[in-house]
Amino acid sequence: MKVLVIGGGAREHALCRALSLDPEVTSLHCAPGNAGIASVAQLHPVDQLDGAAVADLAVELGAEFVIVGPEAPLVAGVADAVRERGIPVFGPGREAAQLEGSKAFAKDVMAAAGVPTARSYVCTTPEEVAEALDAFGAPYVVKDDGLAAGKGVVVTDDLQAATEHAAACDRVVIEEFLDGPEVSLFAVTDGTTVVPLQPAQDFKRVGDDDAGPNTGGMGAYSPLPWADPKLVDEVFDTVLQPTVDELRRRGTPFSGLLYAGLAITSRGVRVIEFNARFGDPETQVVLARLKTPLRGLLYAAATGHLADFPALRWSEGAAVTVVVASEGYPAAPVSGDPITGLAAAEAADGTAYVLHAGTRLAEDGETVLSAGGRVLSVTAKGKDLTEARARAYDAVDKITLRGSHHRTDIAAKAARGE
Ligand code: AMP
Repeated sequence: MKVLVIGGGAREHALCRALSLDPEVTSLHCAPGNAGIASVAQLHPVDQLDGAAVADLAVELGAEFVIVGPEAPLVAGVADAVRERGIPVFGPGREAAQLEGSKAFAKDVMAAAGVPTARSYVCTTPEEVAEALDAFGAPYVVKDDGLAAGKGVVVTDDLQAATEHAAACDRVVIEEFLDGPEVSLFAVTDGTTVVPLQPAQDFKRVGDDDAGPNTGGMGAYSPLPWADPKLVDEVFDTVLQPTVDELRRRGTPFSGLLYAGLAITSRGVRVIEFNARFGDPETQVVLARLKTPLRGLLYAAATGHLADFPALRWSEGAAVTVVVASEGYPAAPVSGDPITGLAAAEAADGTAYVLHAGTRLAEDGETVLSAGGRVLSVTAKGKDLTEARARAYDAVDKITLRGSHHRTDIAAKAARGE
């Protein structure tokens, strides 16, 4: 099958890598891709937000299946545009993607479906903001209603900072603070049947010990040895299936990847947010452990045949990914610096490999240059988290990028059994 993947980050590199290992994928294309994806797929330039352009490219290539990676094209209706040309697509249409595109919409769906989440107010005026902040008290949680690439959320004890962030947004969701560890649980769905993947945990803050500002994600690991073994079943029953059922009931069935960002609070599991696509960097570790060939699973979701799909197979071991970010990330990332040591970082036996996020090839066609805030997602597998961590950090140490930084504590606590 000829497959086209839309996007150009480490998530898409992870997807393309898994697809390239699937014998049923005979031809793999990615648009726009990046320097790393070029080693497993043929790249094509495209404006990812332009549905007609993406659909034209899919038709031109004779793609039999299109997978849309990032949220922005989904929210812009790119999946609808490709579907209209009769090509199966993995990813929700514009309306269902509002689950991620609008926090207020997601809250409304959760309320209707009885899904446990933080209590919240949607505010549009300074008076409403002040009232909501006062009602919940510190720590304050203030979320921009629209898409903000994971950076529209401020969690702070400082009332002035909370008020200022709210003032900078048109419409904000202010909600109760949720304590407890976070878990990302992905589910593949065709709009009716829901197949949960294995849970993962990511690290949102830029620095070790969760210091500094929020980022798009600095690393991830899976499985979660500390989590209740019944967690996936519980979230399936209380969150995933009810949400998918509610969206179908509204006439906007959600097919694609439903990502539940969860807080395991002292009062039980609560949804922090939904996303409408694979999470980055959690995808890197979840796919590292998935043994079931990826194309068949995603195609079954795209074509409404998930109910007949066999149970997923997982490796017993663990996976860890460490994000290497450019100087100045997240505030003011520096781009255009050469990256060396990429080949040395890859293990010959496939236990460690480098997934590219923000990279591009220089004019010479060989030198890899940084081209974004999160540059690489260095991923490793092992028999347990300790081994996977050691391999990931060994690989990171072999890579040089001037001014780059990464967290040194990804999966550290979980590996120690904390
Ligand atoms: P979101 O974009 O909604 O995932 O929020 C980004 C990050 O902000 C989350 O991963 C949490 O770390 C934090 N966050 C969001 N909502 C809450 C909440 N209600 N309570 C505590 N932390 C939150």
